[in-house]
Amino acid sequence: MLTESESAVAREVLLHGPISRRTLAARLRLSPASLTRLARPLLSAGVLVELDDDGDGTVGRPSRPLDISPAAGTFVGVKLTGDRVHVAATDIRADLLDARDRPLDDPSPRGACLAIVEALEALGRDDVRGVGVSLGGHVADGVAVHAPFLDWHDVPLARTLEDMLDVPVAIENDVVALAEAERWFGVGRGIPGFLVVTIGAGVGLGLVVDGRTVRTPDAGIGTVGHLPLRADGPPCPLGHRGCADALLTTTAIERR
Ligand SMILES: [Zn+2]
Repeated sequence: MLTESESAVAREVLLHGPISRRTLAARLRLSPASLTRLARPLLSAGVLVELDDDGDGTVGRPSRPLDISPAAGTFVGVKLTGDRVHVAATDIRADLLDARDRPLDDPSPRGACLAIVEALEALGRDDVRGVGVSLGGHVADGVAVHAPFLDWHDVPLARTLEDMLDVPVAIENDVVALAEAERWFGVGRGIPGFLVVTIGAGVGLGLVVDGRTVRTPDAGIGTVGHLPLRADGPPCPLGHRGCADALLTTTAIERR
C-alpha cells in the first residue's frame, strides 16, 4: 500500500511521464531530497522506472527521468448498460490490450455482478490490479444510488465486486468516467478545461474545469438531457417539447 505522498508521485509520473526529477519536484512542490525519498520505494517496487537520458535537456548532472513501469499489471474497465456488459483490459496508461462484450441477461445487481466476474474470467488475465465500472445514473462512494437503465437503487456495487474479485473496484457515473479518461489519457491531457457531450440512450455532459473533473451531486441525474433546444420540437417521455432528450437520443432519432 502506498502512502498518500507516494501515490501523488506515482500519479504525477503516470500522467506526465517520462518526466525529469527536476520538473516532477517542481510540480509537486517537493525538495529534491524529498522526491528521492518518495521515489525510492516506488522504484524498488517496480512501479516506476528510471530512463537513461536526461529528458529535460538541461546541462550538468544528468537527472535520469522517471516513467511509470509498463509492466505495472492489467487494469479492467467495465461499462454496464441496461442489456450488455462491455469489458476492456488495458495497461496502466489505458492502452487497450483486449475488449469483449456480452449480453446482460439478468440485470439484477447479483446477475450483473456474476456477468462481470464471468467477463473478467474470460479475459484470462492473472495480473489484474484494479477494476473500474461505469454506468449511467447517480453514483456515490461506490454505491449506485440510482441507475435508471438497470432499475437499481442504492446498490453497493463496488464492495460486492471487491468481495467477489479480490481486487480494488471503483464505480463511477459513465459520463464522469469518460471525462476522467479523456483528462488523464485522451484529448484532454494537458488542457485545463473541456466538455464531454455523450449522445446515445441519453444525453450526458461531463465538465472539466481548472484540470479537475466536476462532480456535482446531480451528476448522472440527467438534467442536461432535458435542456430545451427547440420550442416546436416533439415531446420527450417527460413531456418537455423539443428538449435534448426528445431530439438527440437514439430512440428519438429512430422514431423520426
Ligand atoms: Zn425532456
